[in-house]
Formats: sequence, structure tokens, C-alpha cells
Amino acid sequence: MQTRPITFIGAFVETFGKSFRQSEAQPVYTGTITTVPFNTSGIMKDVYLLTREDGSLMVAKTIKSLAHEDYWTHYVAVENEAIRASMLTTILEEFKTHAAASGMNGIPIYDFRTAETCIIIEIEYDSNPPAAAKTLPTSSNDKPSRASSDDVNDPPTHISSPSASETPKKIRAYLCEPFMPDSARLHKFSGSTHAGNNQGFAGNTADALAHFSVIATKADVLLADLQGFMDPNNKTDEGREICTLFDSMAHFTYDYRREVLGNRGRAGIDTFFHQHSCGAMCDVLGLAVISPSTEDHKRPPTTISSLCTADDVHSVDLKRPDDIDLTRRIPDGYSQ
Ligand SMILES: [Zn+2]
Repeated sequence: MQTRPITFIGAFVETFGKSFRQSEAQPVYTGTITTVPFNTSGIMKDVYLLTREDGSLMVAKTIKSLAHEDYWTHYVAVENEAIRASMLTTILEEFKTHAAASGMNGIPIYDFRTAETCIIIEIEYDSNPPAAAKTLPTSSNDKPSRASSDDVNDPPTHISSPSASETPKKIRAYLCEPFMPDSARLHKFSGSTHAGNNQGFAGNTADALAHFSVIATKADVLLADLQGFMDPNNKTDEGREICTLFDSMAHFTYDYRREVLGNRGRAGIDTFFHQHSCGAMCDVLGLAVISPSTEDHKRPPTTISSLCTADDVHSVDLKRPDDIDLTRRIPDGYSQ
């Protein structure tokens, strides 16, 4: 498949309380990307294949309906996808913590993990930068950006160091996930408007995860459209195929002051409750006897999500993006 060179930086989104924070990496990476999508079968997204300089593969997704919109319109939609991915990661980790604290010695649950997701921003250097280059905002609500020159003092050899005088122009944003090997099989557990009613260990766990999301966030978030890749070449010690969840939907009531495509909010959460019937996993995890409105002192602390208890993102001391090892945080695909 035909490819072209690409120069990019990475950006990361983390949900925090009822808000989220975004950080942008300063190292500049290069690689190649397919000139056309290699998969156009998705309803919402086109999928490109990106090869990094170390040979690792990632999928890079763009939003179909916004293909011809300007950079910021597209960026916000991609950032929304990254917010949902972060919600999934946070709630899955809290679900695992709750399962480990349940029963006498913890309740075994199926082996789910989430695909490591980041945003890749394609950049371009103007060969004739203006004398007084302005720094670009890092998001549409104009958070100040750090100058790239300050953070690339001693870059690893595979990272190119742009001239300090140049400010890159942002061209396109992609939602990036590690590339799944051909051996992996897609498994769908629920739809965006249909609760799952799955049998078996994995299915029971996925249904309980959806139920847990509503209980733990006090009916503010529902994880929907749960799907994952089961990989026969990536098994647990007990021989179960690890399931990597990705691209899930979330219906939520949080006000991010922007429209999030596909978020049905309260209606989506209520629909789930009408459709869901608890399976064995919900029972052993104690979810069937808790409702979203159960008071804190009448439920296990592990059934209260940080997404509904954390302080507002602006009131805490944030980990500065400069402290994050972004070389490590750019996912390395399956080459390792
Ligand atoms: Zn249930």
C-alpha cells in the first residue's frame, strides 16, 4: 500500500472527575502513513496505518464526516474519542479493583484491558517561519502551549529536533491505537443503544462492567458499545485469550461544553437499565443489590468511581506535561 512520510507530535487525554485534561508531547516523531485509509468499513471512522521509525505499527483514525472540516473542528471530535477511551480505562481499572476486593479472596473476572490510545497531530514546518512566531493553542479553548524548543534539549536519536525558530503548523489529528495482529478476533458485547445479554465468562464480565459503570458513577456514565479483540497469541497463565477493549461508546451526563457525537446522555443510561438483566457476575460482585442512588455509607467504597468523586480538574496540582515520559507513552504497537 502506498505511503507518505508524516511528522507528528503526540497528545494525551485523561478524564479526571467530571472533566478531563489534555497534554501535548513536545518530541517530534516521524514515520510513514498510508496515503489512503486501509479500512473504510467503519460507520464513523476511516483507518490509516502508521509505521513509526522503529517499525512498530499503529492504526490512525480520522472522523469520516469531518474529513473536509478545518483542523480544530476535527481535533475536537478526535479529542472526544480520546475522552471516551480514557473513561473506559478509568472505569475498567476501578471495576478490577472492586472485583479484587469482593468475596473472601476476590472474585475472578475475565481478562480485559484497554487499547493504549493517544492522539497524533500531524505537523508541518513552514520553511519561512514568521519572525515573531506565535505559539499555537493546545486546544480549542486556548490553553497556552509550551515552546517546542524548550523541551527537546536532548532528544533520543530517532526523534528529529526542529529548528528552535520554527513553530509547526498543525495539519490533521488522528486517534491512534496499537495495530491488532491478524490473529485477533473482534468480539462485540453490546451496542450503543442495546445492553448486552451475553453468556460465558467474558460476556458475563462485560455485562457486569457496563452495570458497574452506572452504579459507580451514580448513573452519570454508561459504558456502551463494548467490543474487544481476543488474541489467541496473547493468553493469560490460565490459557484465556486476553481481550483488548477499544472504541467503546459512553453515554454520560457530564457537561464538557461541547457536543459529543453519539452521547445520548440520560436517555442512553436509562435505556440500559430497562434492558439489562443481571447475570451471575453482577450477583457475585454485589451489583444487583446496589442502585445508583444508594448512599455512600451503605455501599462498598470500591463501587464509587473517581469520576464522580474527584475534585474539579482545575483545583488540583496537575502533573505537568513536561514531567511525562512521552517517549514511553507513545504506544509501541505489537512489535515488542
Ligand atoms: Zn447487572
